Amino acid sequence: NLSERLKLVASFVEQGTVLADIGSDHAYLPCWLIQNGLISRAIAGEVVKGPFESAKRNVQSEGLGKQITVRMANGLRAIEQNDSVETVTIAGMGGSLIASILDNDSERLASVKRIIVQPNIHSMAIRQWAVDNSWKIVNEAIVKEDRKIYEVLVLEPGKGTYSSEEMLMGPYLIKECADAFLEKWQGELAELSRVITALTKSAQSEEAKMKRQQLSETKDLIERVLHK
Ligand code: SAM
Repeated sequence: NLSERLKLVASFVEQGTVLADIGSDHAYLPCWLIQNGLISRAIAGEVVKGPFESAKRNVQSEGLGKQITVRMANGLRAIEQNDSVETVTIAGMGGSLIASILDNDSERLASVKRIIVQPNIHSMAIRQWAVDNSWKIVNEAIVKEDRKIYEVLVLEPGKGTYSSEEMLMGPYLIKECADAFLEKWQGELAELSRVITALTKSAQSEEAKMKRQQLSETKDLIERVLHK
């Protein structure tokens, strides 16, 4: 059965779309989407041999070789022009890695109408990529599973402008203010306080002072949002 985390990603996949799942590992997400009749065709991309083999094995053993093409490729290079891919999913990696995958070979996104990402950390890197590359955030969600909290961001072509609060914490997530969201940012606040205290005690260099100042500003920003 598919994890809650990947089900949340799946919930934003539009019925009947052509999907490319980049960094697919076991190809669980495309297999599940096909088996539930939600999409008819998918590409599963993997850059590492082990996960690539595992994706191929799974697709074969589920008898989905006609519907899912598994390719060994770096990032968006798994997408070929004839695929007419409309939806890209990238899940289970850090936000900076996801942003760099989107940034490389981005001409491969020409036919793409929706990008769904699930960063484990640092979703701000993806929001920054979106703003810089004329994609706007059309939805976000947050879920807790096995004591970890995961965010999902949905992007579509367009211009978006966001405040610094929204860039860090997510415009839709701030509005929704779910329990998992509160828990995540309470945790971040505690961690920030810990680092700021450590910096105050140990380091006196200009650099350390600047870092502390920067962290304090982030902390204030989070507190403003949480105490609204
Ligand atoms: N997407 C699956 C999920 O959410 O459960 C798998 C997540 S797994 C932690 C991350 C996968 O991304 C790994 O299998 C890794 O090999 C793959 N990966 C990392 N960088 C990649 C890249 N540039 N192109 C394609 N795959 C990549």
